[in-house]
Amino acid sequence: MANLPKMAEIWEKTLNWQPTNLQENQFQQLYQLIIAGNRQINLTRITEPEEFWEKHLWDSLRGIAPKQIFIPGIDRGKRIIDIGTGAGFPGLPIALIFPNSQVTLLDSTGKKIAFIETVLSALALNNAKTLLGRAEEIGQQYEHRQNYDVAVIRAVGNVSVCAEYSLPLVRKGGLSIIYRGSWSEAENESLETAVEQLGGVVELIEEFSTPLSNSMRHCLYLRKVTNTPISFPRGVGIPSQKPI
Ligand code: SAM
Repeated sequence: MANLPKMAEIWEKTLNWQPTNLQENQFQQLYQLIIAGNRQINLTRITEPEEFWEKHLWDSLRGIAPKQIFIPGIDRGKRIIDIGTGAGFPGLPIALIFPNSQVTLLDSTGKKIAFIETVLSALALNNAKTLLGRAEEIGQQYEHRQNYDVAVIRAVGNVSVCAEYSLPLVRKGGLSIIYRGSWSEAENESLETAVEQLGGVVELIEEFSTPLSNSMRHCLYLRKVTNTPISFPRGVGIPSQKPI
């Protein structure tokens, strides 16, 4: 099986950070597990080593990295939820580099959650756990609602759907981070309307490009400022059928 590239200089230049040898080995193991798992279930189309490094590992970690966004103590016991984690992105790389954080990997597809369970035990990753369910239901459950310091969500729906899935799960003062490819000024208005109704404000929209293929990316940082009204998230399927 192919090896992932190390990219030490790019990690340093773009994130001011370098993985340890242990983390590099864990990234490689994760890659191998996903390539093997892809033979059983559809986990990802991104399978070439460099592409996997860039679009899964680097991209996952870039979203939590910007200096303008202060995530105090993210490495010290913060509760992070990845909504619609799929094969584990961006949540698994985040759990790997912050061993003292507590990462919950939520997905509504049982097979993906079962796959991630095998990854957690293969990597002996004990600061991450899985959660099977729909974000619309989990967001109404007492033990999850407004319980997380940070929510991350990538490739799950349009922006107001992502805001409705994530902001109810975040505590006041916490952050929801929406990972996006393209973003247009025209989308700002609908984002702001949705975020305001959900008890948040748009703190930062960051544009950047990926370091190998120079692809455009955006991350939207939503700060939770007040409690989300109990009417959100709405019932299963409604956020995507009738976005705020
Ligand atoms: N976040 C991963 C990534 O960027 O590689 C996976 C993205 S995949 C396109 C979308 C994932 O979201 C799927 O695994 C799907 O099962 C999950 N999903 C979609 N709607 C969901 C919901 N309402 N609640 C929980 N998970 C959901």
